[in-house]
Amino acid sequence: MNSSPFETVDCVVIGAGVVGLAVARALALAGREVIVVEAADAIGTETSSRNSEVIHAGIYYPKGSLMARSCVAGRRMLYAYCKEHGVPHLNCGKLIVATNEAESDKLAEIKGRAEANGVEGMRFLSAAEAMAMEPNLHCTAALFSPSTGIVDSHSYMLALQGDAEGHGAMFAFHSPVKQGRVVDGGVEIEVGGTEPMNLRCRLLINSAGLHAPTLARKIVGMPSARVPTAYYAKGNYFTLTGRSPFSRLIYPVPVPGGLGVHITVDMGGQAKFGPDVEWIDGIEYSVDPHRADKFYDAVRRYWPGIKDGSLQPGYAGIRPKIVPQGAPAQDFTLQGPADHGVPGLINLFGIESPGLTASLALAEQVRDLAST
Ligand SMILES: Cc1cc2nc3c(=O)[nH]c(=O)nc-3n(C[C@H](O)[C@H](O)[C@H](O)COP(=O)(O)OP(=O)(O)OC[C@H]3O[C@@H](n4cnc5c(N)ncnc54)[C@H](O)[C@@H]3O)c2cc1C
Repeated sequence: MNSSPFETVDCVVIGAGVVGLAVARALALAGREVIVVEAADAIGTETSSRNSEVIHAGIYYPKGSLMARSCVAGRRMLYAYCKEHGVPHLNCGKLIVATNEAESDKLAEIKGRAEANGVEGMRFLSAAEAMAMEPNLHCTAALFSPSTGIVDSHSYMLALQGDAEGHGAMFAFHSPVKQGRVVDGGVEIEVGGTEPMNLRCRLLINSAGLHAPTLARKIVGMPSARVPTAYYAKGNYFTLTGRSPFSRLIYPVPVPGGLGVHITVDMGGQAKFGPDVEWIDGIEYSVDPHRADKFYDAVRRYWPGIKDGSLQPGYAGIRPKIVPQGAPAQDFTLQGPADHGVPGLINLFGIESPGLTASLALAEQVRDLAST
């Protein structure tokens, strides 16, 4: 620890990504004193600003999983929150498209899973019906998800920050947490950066996204056996020059490790393709332009009109995986004292997609876990 004296606070949230912000808001609304410590100079500079900005319906996740439950509940809460706070969003719907008989068979499985998760209004479409909705589409059948949408994630995060601050939460930027230790009645942390400080809190929320496992390992007293290994699966995006050929989101039938190369549109009307899946060893966001070659082939199956050379490298985001390539998908991991034995510490691990959609529901879970 550095030589600064300890300041005592009730709750510290590490990380001002969308999940940390939603948690800070929920705790502040519950009347708790909250400080958010963020390594970067602003909110949402990592995974929360490097995603598809899709409000997911909750279709693909195993029934009863935290992903399924928090996505469906979080999606309903997110639409209501956006309406109430004037956050730009659009309930545009999505088509999951099959391009051969084997994929058509999989649509029934996907619909069954979605309905088991409580997703409303899923509907089979014939090829003719789907192509009438989206004239540039080619498919053999499709599944329509009316509750899927898009959101301006930065406006959403600003609203969360404003709400949290309006209920007394404080934010410290340029404040990387370096280490910590479990003490009687809470956790002490050392914060570096331009204005180093030491904080002692009753409740510490580790919502550091890609860095959450590394950080948990630096908290003396947190059993390292309970900390998962971090793995990184980059998702590269390519943007399309010109107008979007579709007005709804178009997804192929999923592939192992991701949802397949799909087309989404952001609130500014920009169409983008991706993300693909590229397992990497460390955090870096460059997009290799050559990866576009594979995109053309994947996209041409459902949009034959895509022209060679029309895709430009866009940006990349990294999925905070806690299982290696090839392992069965891992659920969101929300670890409280009952899981790791440390009172006053909650770790959020593996908050990949649909973490943006699920953020308000996850925040309520964390708030409730913190009060037990
Ligand atoms: C390619 C991709 C596409 C996605 N698409 C969607 C989608 O369309 N819809 C959807 O619902 N979800 C989507 N997701 C998931 C969603 O983006 C994430 O679940 C969500 O952004 C995670 O938010 P977070 O707050 O947990 O993490 P982050 O946004 O990564 O925030 C963590 C914060 O912690 C800070 N931090 C880290 N270490 C420290 C430290 N030591 N001290 C202080 N601060 C620290 C970081 O600076 C960062 O600001 C996607 C994810 C990826 C990778």
